Amino acid sequence: MNDILPPESARWEWLEAKMRSVLQRYGYVNVRTPIVEPTALFVRGIGEVTDIVEKEMYAFEDRADKHGQAEHLALRPEMTAGVVRAMIEHSYLRESGRRLYYFGPMFRREKPQKGRYRQFHQMGVEALGFAGPDVDAEVILMGSRLLRELGLVDGEHVSLELNCLGESAERLAHREALIAYLEQHQDLLDDDGRRRLYTNPLRVLDTKNPALQDMANAAPQLLDFLGETSLAHFNGVRAILDAAGVAYRINPRLVRGLDYYNLTVFEWVTDKLGSQGTVCGGGRYDGLIEQLGGKPAPAVGFGMGLERMLLLLEEIGVAPEAPTPDAYAIVPSAQSLPQVMVTLEALRSAGVAVILHPGQSSMKSQFKKADASGAAYALIFGEDEVAQGQVAVKPLRGQGAEGAAQFNRSLSAVADWAAELLNA
Ligand code: ATP
Ligand code: MG
Repeated sequence: MNDILPPESARWEWLEAKMRSVLQRYGYVNVRTPIVEPTALFVRGIGEVTDIVEKEMYAFEDRADKHGQAEHLALRPEMTAGVVRAMIEHSYLRESGRRLYYFGPMFRREKPQKGRYRQFHQMGVEALGFAGPDVDAEVILMGSRLLRELGLVDGEHVSLELNCLGESAERLAHREALIAYLEQHQDLLDDDGRRRLYTNPLRVLDTKNPALQDMANAAPQLLDFLGETSLAHFNGVRAILDAAGVAYRINPRLVRGLDYYNLTVFEWVTDKLGSQGTVCGGGRYDGLIEQLGGKPAPAVGFGMGLERMLLLLEEIGVAPEAPTPDAYAIVPSAQSLPQVMVTLEALRSAGVAVILHPGQSSMKSQFKKADASGAAYALIFGEDEVAQGQVAVKPLRGQGAEGAAQFNRSLSAVADWAAELLNA
């Protein structure tokens, strides 16, 4: 679990602001739910035999209440189950659907390594109440735009993988064929594979073990078991992506590590982060709302790992500039402080970002600090100037009509010149 300190935290804020601007353009609105939920919510939502529930959850028993009852609670390992719970609890689902997004920390007890942490952060979207392939395509287009507007180039830094998981009857038929196939190749399977053969055979195909690739490639494919309706949905999504020019690779072995998915699933992957190659994953989960006690309603969404996004952006040299102040206030004498600080407040009311030099120090050291702050202007509140109701304004970056020359402005008429500082 990491501390995120400046200047690193500025990269986070930059990333989040970029993402919010995209989300807004698609009409998604923010939702925030608790970090702690009943453990049973995740067991029912994500699935009992998934890695997350079997090994990765921070689950604990709360203190007993006065009746001796203790609740089983867990730190959320993902957000979808919590969002769906909240929607049901507040009767928030409606006929016309809901388009939501979230940012926040998630928790999984995994082996920490680059791009894999025990507390990590996701941005995600959930579109609830929409059945058609249009909204699957919408969230994929939105994900694609998010990556593009952050500076990631499709095909070079990231690529989209797409699959269709069909419906449960189709998965069941495929599952039987798959188990029969895997039984024939039992001797090849690793420990994970043997453990999952009967519990989660699709996940066996999702293996990253190089020794199992040939076997997994030749296994019966779920796509061959899909009926007309599922295929029509899949083709509907594909037609929109094709028209929009979003490239994808159909990966028949893409299953995702959570049980609630059906029909469309997708991932954006990169080869720049070693084995932590998935930066975004999502899909349709039409059964989850009903499974968690709500009136049946379809849904689709995705989650994006923010640490991996930032690592990837760093890897390819996208470095957001840290925000710099418009001005830095140099105060040679403590005597002027009340007037100086009133002036700074007026500047801030006018929208100027201005940093006060704290405490007393030499002019030389104050100028050094002004320079280091990256400010466009130094405001020099010399004792004489202040006594005359003036401040000396010095451009620090050689900008402005008056070049690098210093000029005076009136303390009582900040509104008249604040714009000068903002337009530097
Ligand atoms: P992986 O295959 O890498 O374990 P996952 O399938 O478990 O990922 P999801 O549950 O789909 O991941 O979560 C969505 C995204 O959240 C991932 O694509 C990834 O970017 C990020 N993520 C998941 N687990 C971690 C983690 N432990 N640390 C950092 N980011 C993570
Ligand atoms: Mg995982």
